[in-house]
Amino acid sequence: MLVIRRRALVATALACGIGAAAVALAAALWAGRQVRAATAAVSSARSVQPASTVIWRVLTSQPDVAVTFDDGPDPQNTPRVLATLQRYHAVATFFVLGSQAEDYPALVHGEVAEGSEVCNHGYSHALLTGKPAAFIRADVAQAAAVLRQLGVARCRLFRFPYFASDATARAVVAALGYRLVAASVDPQDWRGGSGQRIVRWVFEHVRRGDIILLHDGGGPRGATLAALGPILQGLAERGLHAVTVSQLLSSAG
Ligand SMILES: [Zn+2]
Repeated sequence: MLVIRRRALVATALACGIGAAAVALAAALWAGRQVRAATAAVSSARSVQPASTVIWRVLTSQPDVAVTFDDGPDPQNTPRVLATLQRYHAVATFFVLGSQAEDYPALVHGEVAEGSEVCNHGYSHALLTGKPAAFIRADVAQAAAVLRQLGVARCRLFRFPYFASDATARAVVAALGYRLVAASVDPQDWRGGSGQRIVRWVFEHVRRGDIILLHDGGGPRGATLAALGPILQGLAERGLHAVTVSQLLSSAG
C-alpha cells in the first residue's frame, strides 16, 4: 500500500531554476493538490489507488529504499554517479530528460547496462501545471520516443518537473500509462555546500520504503557526487538495500 507525504515544492522548484512567480504559482497549485491527494489517499486506503495518485514513498516490509536521480544524463556528473553505483554494487532510478538523453545516448545505455532503470522526466523540463492536455501529452511522449529510439525498455514511471502537477497533468500522464512518482527524502542536494550535509540529512530521515531525491543534471553536482558513496555505504550499514523504484513498488504491501 502506498502513502503520500508532503514535500518542499518551493525548494525543489528553485533547484530546477524557475522564477519566483512560477514558484508561487506552483506552490499554490501544490497546496490544492495536497488536499485532493490526501482525500484520495484516505478514500483508497483499503482499495486500489487511483492511477493519478502521486507516489511519495512505499509501505513495505522489505528493508528497501530507492535512490533516484533527476535531470540527467549529464556528461560531467553521470559517469561519476555510475562509477560510484558500480563500486557499491547498487542500482538507482534515473528520471532523465528526453532532451538530455538525446544528446548523451551513451550515458543512458550506461545506466541501463549497470542494472539501473531509466524513466521519464519529460522532454524539456517544462512546468506542466496550467498547460493544455495536448502540450503535456506531447512533452511526455517526446521523451518516451527518445528513450524508445535508444532501445530502453519502457519504464512505467514518470516524475513531474519541479514535482509540480495539477489534475489535468496527472490525468494526462496517467492516461499515457505512467505511475506518478515523487520522493519522500529530499536533501536539497542542488544547494551544494558539503557532501556531509546531504549525507547527514538523508540519515536523519531515511527509513524503509523511502524514495531519495538526488540530481545528476542541471548544473555542477560536486556535493551530490561527494555524498553518494557515503549514502550507499550508510544504507548498507543500516541493512537497507538500494533498489530501483519499480523494484520498491513490487515489494509494496
Ligand atoms: Zn527536474
